[in-house]
Amino acid sequence: INYQLAKFVTSNAKAEQVAPSVRPEISFVGRSNVGKSSLMNKIFRRKDLVKVGGTPGKTRQINFFNVGDVDFVDLPGYGYAKVSKAEMDAWRPLIEGYFTQDRKYALCVLLVDIRHDASPLDVQMIEFLQANEIPFMIAFTKSDKLGTNKRRQQVASLCRQLAVAGDVVVVPCSSHSGDGVDDIRTLIEDAVAQ
Ligand code: GDP
Repeated sequence: INYQLAKFVTSNAKAEQVAPSVRPEISFVGRSNVGKSSLMNKIFRRKDLVKVGGTPGKTRQINFFNVGDVDFVDLPGYGYAKVSKAEMDAWRPLIEGYFTQDRKYALCVLLVDIRHDASPLDVQMIEFLQANEIPFMIAFTKSDKLGTNKRRQQVASLCRQLAVAGDVVVVPCSSHSGDGVDDIRTLIEDAVAQ
């Protein structure tokens, strides 16, 4: 994948507006503020192709990026506490709508902050992805915030909380230090090559 080709394609506020999929798609999903935009920019080797720290209301869209033969999909962050109930639930039809279409789902990267306990929404998201047979991996973000031992402990603890078995690939990563980012790029390449 030649990330120099990465370009923004479009934003959709409704799942029904999303164009049919023509290339393998790599999607990114996780709680608001988990570090999704930062990680996508890091993978793209770009500073701000994906808007970092966007105001919650404005990020309730599905954003598409194209990188040559692969499309990247930035799904809305879920579970942000500081917005209205209506806004808080706006992500659900978008995410669920996107994942229940007839698309080329190559890999979903589910992001979970390595410092915090998993939220019930993270558990639900995994159950939803499994029920819909969407291939996924878990990226534990912001690994630079923890020391080596604590990092290892949190990975084990989060895997228990998320009830993921050994067959789910988990990668601690950091957009700041670059930890794990090459591993994620490799997993993306493998998923696209399948
Ligand atoms: P998003 O809402 O999931 O797209 O999250 P952002 O990428 O906008 O990041 C949310 C906040 O977390 C910002 O203040 C980032 O600077 C910070 N952040 C993102 N990734 C990392 C990381 O790898 N390490 C650290 N320490 N902070 C991060």
